[in-house]
Amino acid sequence: MKLIILGCGTSTGVPVIGCTCRVCTSANPRNNRTRSSALIEVNGRNILIDTSTDLRAQALSTGITRVDSVLFTHPHADHIHGIDELRSFNMLQKGPVSCFGSADTIARITLLFEYIFSDERGESITPELTTTLVDGPFKIGTVEVIPVEVSHGRSSVLGFRIGSLAYITDCSDIPPVSMEKLHGLDLLVLGALRYKKHPTHMTVEQAIKVVETLKPRRTILTHLGHDIDYPRDNPKLPASMEFAYDGLCADV
Ligand SMILES: [Zn+2]
Ligand SMILES: [Zn+2]
Ligand SMILES: [Zn+2]
Repeated sequence: MKLIILGCGTSTGVPVIGCTCRVCTSANPRNNRTRSSALIEVNGRNILIDTSTDLRAQALSTGITRVDSVLFTHPHADHIHGIDELRSFNMLQKGPVSCFGSADTIARITLLFEYIFSDERGESITPELTTTLVDGPFKIGTVEVIPVEVSHGRSSVLGFRIGSLAYITDCSDIPPVSMEKLHGLDLLVLGALRYKKHPTHMTVEQAIKVVETLKPRRTILTHLGHDIDYPRDNPKLPASMEFAYDGLCADV
């Protein structure tokens, strides 16, 4: 199984439009962060997590030519606004892309992108998608996917576990029942926005606490804001943890 971090930026992306801070003006390409998303290659399938605002650029820069399925974590703009780009994969693979999400997420996506799901056929080509509501562990072919509910401020959103890999992006707290589902990981991808407290995202310090409890072999922090300076801030993390950068590949 292989994971590619397609984007590791918070909702604004980094650089932030108009910002002149050290990170936003950094010459290090690893401080350029597109909106958060990842691709998991497993058992011959390409599973995309979220359709970020930057999906087209991410697919071009990493050379993705196939997306079999999409796992949606939640319906915030930065995680879904690239949904129209799935058209390109429909054309390449001559078939639909299967999309999975909570009932709330699928309802929001269906409402926001009514033109995709309406039965009225217009003149333009729209993405061909199937949707499946997630309410417990499910299978994509031979791949078992375990949804993991986490808090994102006042809302409850999904992370996903496949084998010894778990991906949890926007998250302010992991309830005990979900922590139980995250033991024995080889790789944890976990959202951590910045150092200062935030109502809907974990800080780096909070993420370190989660890692100290779960003890995954390797942890990659994602959904990073412009407070995180790569590589200057890297020594602030314990040895098993690292900050993500766009295009990072990890074998699991
Ligand atoms: Zn987000
Ligand atoms: Zn900045
Ligand atoms: Zn969010």
